[in-house]
Amino acid sequence: MTAATKSPDISPASPMMAQYLALKAEAGSALLLFRMGDFYELFLSDAATAAQALDIALTHRGQHDGAPLPMCGVPVHSHEAYLARLVKAGHTVAIAEQVENPAEAKKRGSKSVVKRAIVRVITPGTLTEERLLESGRANWLMAGFPSGDTVGLAWADISTGAFHLATIPEGALADEISRIAPVELLWPDSGAAPAPISASETAASRFDSRAGERALCARYALQTLDGLGHFDRPALAAANALLAHLADTSRGSPVRLDVPHAHSIASSMAIDAATRRSLELSGGAGSLLAAIDRTVTAAGARLLAADLAAPLTNVAEINGRLDLVQWLMADSSFRDTVRQGLRAAPDIVRALGRIAADRSSPRDLAALRNGLIAAHRLKSALEVASLNGAPLTLHPLREALSPPAGLLAHLEAALVENPPAQANDGGAIADGFDTELDGLRLLARDTRAAIAALESKLRADSGIAALKIRHNNVIGYHLEVASRAADPLMASPGYFHRQTLAGVMRFDTEELRGLASRIAQAHAHALAAEAAHLEELRGKAVAAGPAVATVAAALAALDRSAALADLAASENWCRPHLTEAHDFAIVAGRHPVVELARRTLGEPFVPNDCRLEAEARLWLVTGPNMGGKSTFLRQNALMAILAQSGSYVPAASATIGIVDRLYSRVGASDSLAEGRSTFMVEMVETAAILNGATSRSLLLLDEVGRGTATWDGLALAWAILESIHDRVQARCLFASHYHELTALQSRLSNLALRTMRVREWQDTLVFLHEVAVGAAPGSFGLQVARLAGVPADVLARAGEILAKLETGDLSRSANAALSDLPLFAIAPKPVPADRLRTRLAELHPDTLSPRAALDLLYELKELGKDS
Ligand code: ATP
Repeated sequence: MTAATKSPDISPASPMMAQYLALKAEAGSALLLFRMGDFYELFLSDAATAAQALDIALTHRGQHDGAPLPMCGVPVHSHEAYLARLVKAGHTVAIAEQVENPAEAKKRGSKSVVKRAIVRVITPGTLTEERLLESGRANWLMAGFPSGDTVGLAWADISTGAFHLATIPEGALADEISRIAPVELLWPDSGAAPAPISASETAASRFDSRAGERALCARYALQTLDGLGHFDRPALAAANALLAHLADTSRGSPVRLDVPHAHSIASSMAIDAATRRSLELSGGAGSLLAAIDRTVTAAGARLLAADLAAPLTNVAEINGRLDLVQWLMADSSFRDTVRQGLRAAPDIVRALGRIAADRSSPRDLAALRNGLIAAHRLKSALEVASLNGAPLTLHPLREALSPPAGLLAHLEAALVENPPAQANDGGAIADGFDTELDGLRLLARDTRAAIAALESKLRADSGIAALKIRHNNVIGYHLEVASRAADPLMASPGYFHRQTLAGVMRFDTEELRGLASRIAQAHAHALAAEAAHLEELRGKAVAAGPAVATVAAALAALDRSAALADLAASENWCRPHLTEAHDFAIVAGRHPVVELARRTLGEPFVPNDCRLEAEARLWLVTGPNMGGKSTFLRQNALMAILAQSGSYVPAASATIGIVDRLYSRVGASDSLAEGRSTFMVEMVETAAILNGATSRSLLLLDEVGRGTATWDGLALAWAILESIHDRVQARCLFASHYHELTALQSRLSNLALRTMRVREWQDTLVFLHEVAVGAAPGSFGLQVARLAGVPADVLARAGEILAKLETGDLSRSANAALSDLPLFAIAPKPVPADRLRTRLAELHPDTLSPRAALDLLYELKELGKDS
């Protein structure tokens, strides 16, 4: 892994080491990758860190401060893979390039070292390389500036040019961070950054709103920012820190950013970090996003993820998206044509980002060309199809698919179909585009023929039939003959000896030298001509940047909508009806992720209704563990998220009044890293709900109060339920094991009881996963434990304790009652007569449906038989 070709002088006193140390001082805590020939080398403690992070050999050369100098290196041609690992491991990396060639250095004196400079600092939020980025995920760099009770935010993804500014209430910061999920956060060093993301401390002086305003005006050549929207001072201050960081890290290379978009948090459903986690909205397998993502382009995938992360609150806007999905659903063969067309569209906005940042390969230009061609074709297809009943939303989308005039034609004419990855390899520009270039190439080709001719001539002259003309990067063109045949050439004045290797000897001649220099010149001139063409194309692409970004956005929107249409059509989803009222009426709703999981097991998913209407705005859901409560709660939250994101929903029908805030507290979790126990986390989240929810919110609370002692928990759950009912008045699903809460039904007029149906059958439980009116007859905790394989003696013992508890024995006098229990009398199985009695005691006739009553009768008969 280490440069082995020449040993550079890296002794401490050497000019090279002095140069390294000066650059290292400039790089600060960043790992410095120091370009030496074909390698990037790391020295001293950087070398040790990188060798460990990359699992490569740490070597030593010379001495530094009396000890061997540690070093390691990575080859330039494959350095991106190593960079990816370093950045992923949380390192910032500075790249020092050679900024002159050795000949230029020599002109300054024979001992001069080639000049080097840091040309780029790589942080997680400043990546543009395809290999370093996740294709379907945005890569946000964010700057936050707390100011009074607000926070100014600026966030940008330089790989796509997306750029947003907002000033938000301090209390909304954690939610916004969880929505945007930045990979890097800049925060003033004068204050503590918000947990949980680790922030790079940035000099507080950089958060300067006036400077921010000036920088933005300069960047977009504007007199004033008024035309872009309203930006508050804290947001402008954050923007300044963000732009300064980009300037620092890109070291003068341009960074493409769209004009900033003024973001308003009121335009999307508020979803806090805990709710996002609990609902598993995004992430890998098992998340909502993974289950529904049928996009065929990376940009479409990013847009879908962004839409799901920020469901809209404006009915008209949501309907605009839904109209498009509905239109694309109608004709499956047209939809397939569109999706096929989209598959041919590469990620042009990221290609543009690299082109603008001067980090592009000719392949990025080809990607741009192919994307623009795909857009042009899709536009034609949409024009034909939209003649019959296209929605209004299609019109701007179709227009936006127009490739910038001139750029596409230029790219098509200039580039070969599949250009090389490196411009230096040559061959990116098509034959016929430039006659001068064609001439140079012809010359290069001709000289190849001339080499062959010269080879024949030299063979004839020397009488050595095996003589060959060869080429390598070190000595260029040369003759090669077997050593045993070389004597005549050594003796001949026209042949100059170059090298002796094992078995062969190398020579050249005046004629070969002349030819070689003509070839080199033709090749160099051809490369220079290609480079000039590529540069011109890049310049054109950058100048057309905003138009390309518009095309890219339209392609992404089309992909997103076609993907949702495909999903809705194949999964039989319905178009939700969104209203401004407080409706929530889902008929036959399903959980998209659990349904998929069940399908792979060959098991059906049982659909359930959820009508949180006037007299039943708050549902108290009881039922045994494993009965399906959490699934039911979550599926209704996902229904609201999907609907407001502009997607169809997994239900037979759905009417949803816009949800302003969604809270889901389903399942227990602790946050030991933050020093919070399970119960503390539960109460913090519950407090956030009670303080933040409005009558337009949707709340899902599962087993609130379970993390503490029974009576404390019950008391809390009771009071929380009352507060949601009387004060918050939000739509709410409240799942609980506290059967005592069902008593509240008589007092709370908008509380309705629902239970997850279950059947006990031959000593075991059958979960029906059906939501029914009423309360659960019991918790069935012991039965579930049996299903889970808890040993029979433990279950028998638990049964005895439970019986005591239920008759109140333990609560009267815990110690006395416990001493009553036959502690060591382990009955492996309760006698059937007891089971019959226990079952009868558990019975709540008023809550049974006729069907459940019949099932129960059979069950009791069965138990009676055994006794
Ligand atoms: P606990 O109280 O133990 O958390 P729970 O009542 O919340 O249990 P869930 O976790 O929602 O139960 O569901 C348990 C399992 O039952 C799920 O993993 C799923 O496989 C299955 N299930 C839930 N709902 C349905 C349904 N409607 N149709 C089919 N299977 C379902």
